[in-house]
Amino acid sequence: MEIFESLSSLGYGELHFGRDPQAGLRTIVALHSTRLGPAIGGCRVRAYPTEAAAIEDVTRLGQGMTYKAALARLPHGGAKSVLIAPPELGTPAFTAERRAEMFRAFGRFVDGLNGRYYTAEDSGTSASDMDVIRGVTKYVLGASAERGGSGDPSPFTALGVRRGIEACAHAILGRADLKGLHVAVQGVGHVGTYLARELHQAGARLTISDVDPARRAAIATELGAAVVEVERILEVDCDVIAPCALGGALTEDVVPRLKARIVAGAANNQLRTPAVGRALKERGIFYAPDYAINAGGLINVAEEYRGYDRERARKKTLAIYDTIADIAERARRDREQPEVIADRMAEEIIAAGPTN
Ligand code: NAD
Repeated sequence: MEIFESLSSLGYGELHFGRDPQAGLRTIVALHSTRLGPAIGGCRVRAYPTEAAAIEDVTRLGQGMTYKAALARLPHGGAKSVLIAPPELGTPAFTAERRAEMFRAFGRFVDGLNGRYYTAEDSGTSASDMDVIRGVTKYVLGASAERGGSGDPSPFTALGVRRGIEACAHAILGRADLKGLHVAVQGVGHVGTYLARELHQAGARLTISDVDPARRAAIATELGAAVVEVERILEVDCDVIAPCALGGALTEDVVPRLKARIVAGAANNQLRTPAVGRALKERGIFYAPDYAINAGGLINVAEEYRGYDRERARKKTLAIYDTIADIAERARRDREQPEVIADRMAEEIIAAGPTN
């Protein structure tokens, strides 16, 4: 693997490798940018087939965080870290104490970056792992609400997505509110559930699906939502499709079958390939770029940096409406794909540098 070539293509300055054999730690911190402020990015634990795969994953994700933070107008850069899963992870041999030792070693490594990188929870890590890290460094975000921290990010992510859907409904369908708007939510997990409640409260009509029968039944009963099989959700005759399950839900096969005019949801990396974005535009379907509309969780956790204030986090999350409205307006004016416009806007914000 040509590491420097790959770093240069993604606009990187730094990639940090850490190793502590005693603690079973092998970590990579991809520090993409600190131009707008200290970089924030989650820490994931994953088994990778090769070290090159780990580098590829962490560098791609770190770059994405820079764009996401910039577009959310946060005074932060982007980064990501991975802990390569020890072979014993998930077995009784990997005790809670061994896990804590690994995260303490990781925390010391993060501490050595002197506050240019703030870590946070991500896939494979939990709030209690962050508590362990907090024992050895202050450069960690995502404390529980009981400890005065930002708590579960999902309600904020959902709030931002609801605001984004409102902006889309206004720009694309000329609707002043969500009353009677039909939204199909794919996946009613953490974010999908909060989103369904937000939409219901705003008067929207819901169709949902989830691979978990208990989850979909609970939401259907609570909100009077219609339920469809997982294979059918993207084809529902509705106004908005909200992907809130796994990434890559939108493929070139799926696009011709969509009936909605708007795709706006929380899932990361919704477009399986860039060609899907082009296909959506050709069919006149507006796609709310995922990292723009799902930034509420990041906005909320980033508030801890200045001393957590829930109301301020809420206000900033509500402003996702303006970001999506701006993207929609520029996409219309320039006849361009919304995700291309979002990247361009993020690059402009980064190039302009810190505002204060
Ligand atoms: P989650 O695991 O709690 O929920 C995902 C739900 O999707 C689960 O209920 C699962 O059963 C369901 N699901 C899986 N495959 C499905 C399929 N094929 N069809 C229908 N349902 C399916 O995760 P989450 O925290 O709610 O996150 C959802 C998405 O949003 C993820 O892509 C995540 O990366 C992204 N995201 C989450 C946050 C956050 O604050 N949690 C922030 C930004 C982005």
